[in-house]
Amino acid sequence: MQTGGRGYADMTIAPLLDEAGRVACLSATGTDATERRRVEERLRLLDDIGEATRIAAEPKAIMEGATRLLGEHLGATRVAYADLEPDNDRFTIRHDWTEPGAFSTVGVYSLDLFGSRATSNLRVGRTLVVNDVDAELAPDDGADMFNQIGIKAIICCPLVKQHRLVALMAVHQRTPRRWSEDEIALVDAVVERCWAHIERVRSTEALREADRHKSEFLATLAHELRNPLAPIRNGLEVLRISEGQPAATAKVRAMMERQVGQMVHLVNDLLDIARVSTGKVVLKVERITLQAVVASAVETSLPLLEAAHHTLQLRMPEQAVWLDVDLVRMSQVLSNLLSNAAKYTPGAGRIAVEAELEGGEVLIRVSDTGIGIAPEAIASIFDMFTQVERSLDRSKGGLGIGLSLVRHLVALHGGTVGAESRGPGQGSSFTVRLPVAQAVAAPPPAPAATAADPGIQAQGLRILLVDDNTDAADSLASLLEAAGHTVCTVYDGGEALRLAPSFAPDLAFLDIGMPGMDGYQTARALRALPQLDGLRLAALTGWGAAEDRVRSREAGFDHHLLKPASPEQLAQLLSFTPRGEG
Ligand code: ADP
Repeated sequence: MQTGGRGYADMTIAPLLDEAGRVACLSATGTDATERRRVEERLRLLDDIGEATRIAAEPKAIMEGATRLLGEHLGATRVAYADLEPDNDRFTIRHDWTEPGAFSTVGVYSLDLFGSRATSNLRVGRTLVVNDVDAELAPDDGADMFNQIGIKAIICCPLVKQHRLVALMAVHQRTPRRWSEDEIALVDAVVERCWAHIERVRSTEALREADRHKSEFLATLAHELRNPLAPIRNGLEVLRISEGQPAATAKVRAMMERQVGQMVHLVNDLLDIARVSTGKVVLKVERITLQAVVASAVETSLPLLEAAHHTLQLRMPEQAVWLDVDLVRMSQVLSNLLSNAAKYTPGAGRIAVEAELEGGEVLIRVSDTGIGIAPEAIASIFDMFTQVERSLDRSKGGLGIGLSLVRHLVALHGGTVGAESRGPGQGSSFTVRLPVAQAVAAPPPAPAATAADPGIQAQGLRILLVDDNTDAADSLASLLEAAGHTVCTVYDGGEALRLAPSFAPDLAFLDIGMPGMDGYQTARALRALPQLDGLRLAALTGWGAAEDRVRSREAGFDHHLLKPASPEQLAQLLSFTPRGEG
């Protein structure tokens, strides 16, 4: 048993009898049980903390339970739990328990307050134990700070994980106190458990948050895809009843094209974000002027700007600024920013695109006089699925992935993008920074003038169409037939193989995902038929990743078109001379 302290013993008291059988005296034997008793007490307290915080769903509840039970057990003045900030130099006391009358110390502090020696000890996981502040600490080694808060004895237990200080548990006493080894070990055990429990709860919270974002995204996606469907369906009905009235049908057709265009745009964004975030986008970098990139983006966004009666102001450097960029991708970046500016600015607003050189970079700023962005939202708008105002009736026709795509694409070009706004109603501005091309090379030669667009009616071709989606197949067949081609439509690979030798197509469009024989198998089998020598094969599919294109080339396809193919793509594909002619 320790001298000068309290201890526990297990006592056995037994009577000793004389010859007559009477109790002559009592014998007492005892063993020191102090250590066992302390271990039991420590385990009981840890158990109690575990039980009190078992079903806690929030970090705060765990901190509350742990600090209170520990504080009461030790008879302390205050017990505080702190997290380290990501900068590793500051800690935040998120919660403290205090005895009645003591004040709370919740807040953000610098680790330096402990003095340099104690700070470096804490960083490597060494506990700070002070029995008497005035006797043991120099003023700048923490004494000043502890005296200011009226504290004379401290245990401060650091928790180090993967070489990083992650949390602190501090016990404060208003009077000097000689801390025992047990008490120090107890605080150590509590901080470890408390932190592990809090981390578990935090990661569950993060998962829940991600899940919530995903559900909201799916709801928005369904809404955005359904939006264009209603006018398209109505349009079909109008076409049916107004056959033979060219003015009415032309108007409806234009509306339907716009709506289909919007759906294609959404689906392309979705495919892009999936490809970009898995690192599958390969840039086709060319040397091109900033002015050309901006012109291409403006051309894409012009219909949206005009529809909302916005004015567009362009301010570009006078000399040509050369960039090494993928024209399609960079113009996609700027047109996304322009479309957002148009969407989030009430009608007849002012939108500006300005560019200036700064060092070896060009700054391209797209600004608007629109609804602006609240300061707390700025940091997250580039995250996937983030929309500041998500209620469906406020939705402006987007999925919350445009800016995430912008950030990925700009980063692929070695640049950065940031947003600024003075707040709601104050307009927004987005700035893209890109490196300027190193040595200014001679501008590349202008592309040779192309022959006049022959359209899809160029030749009368024999075309085999294979797609298990009968609507997709039949509508494309009608289009091709209307353009003067001879079309044989089948809905599976086996039928294609049976009919192909006698039909002798010049060109075959094959869907890839078909039950039974898929597009790849059908392509290989068609290629093996000697009668079909010279046949052009085009894959028409929803899969457009680089590896899908490699697979289709390996299966013998000459072309790989993404559904729905645009009239321009079809026209280009159909403008060849079939064998035996020309
Ligand atoms: P969305 O498809 O919703 O437009 P984005 O990723 O392009 O998705 O944008 C994310 C969010 O950022 C938008 O929902 C909107 O709240 C906000 N935002 C983007 N651009 C602007 C802008 N020019 N003005 C105000 N808010 C904007």
